[in-house]
Amino acid sequence: MNDCLFCRIVARQSPSDIVYEDDAVVAFKDIYPKAPVHLLIVPRRHIASLAEATEADAEVLGRCVVAARRLAESTGYGEKGFRLGVNTGPDGGQVVYHVHFHFTAGRRPRSDA
Ligand code: AMP
Ligand code: ZN
Repeated sequence: MNDCLFCRIVARQSPSDIVYEDDAVVAFKDIYPKAPVHLLIVPRRHIASLAEATEADAEVLGRCVVAARRLAESTGYGEKGFRLGVNTGPDGGQVVYHVHFHFTAGRRPRSDA
């Protein structure tokens, strides 16, 4: 799985700024932040895209969402609010094919985002 950038980050074989991790999930800072807080939350286990997600992935994907809630609290956006987004497939703007939740906060999202 070394050809996957986010698997390498999870394995700490590529540099990143990890802000949270547990047995199922790793979160790190997006290298090109599009908001004052821009984190990527990924399952440790490689899932290429939501387009390939199955029932077997439900727990770990749910764990990503719960990690987002924890990150919202630790970054001070639990009450102000935040946005979670998953770009999926070519028309969905997905560039890295290891499922990742974009956690953004600190700026109102565009109405079409
Ligand atoms: P997506 O278009 O949803 O596949 O998003 C990929 C995201 O990964 C983009 O927001 C990039 O800025 C981010 N990214 C790419 N390479 C790295 C990296 N080495 N470390 C952290 N974030 C990255
Ligand atoms: Zn991967």
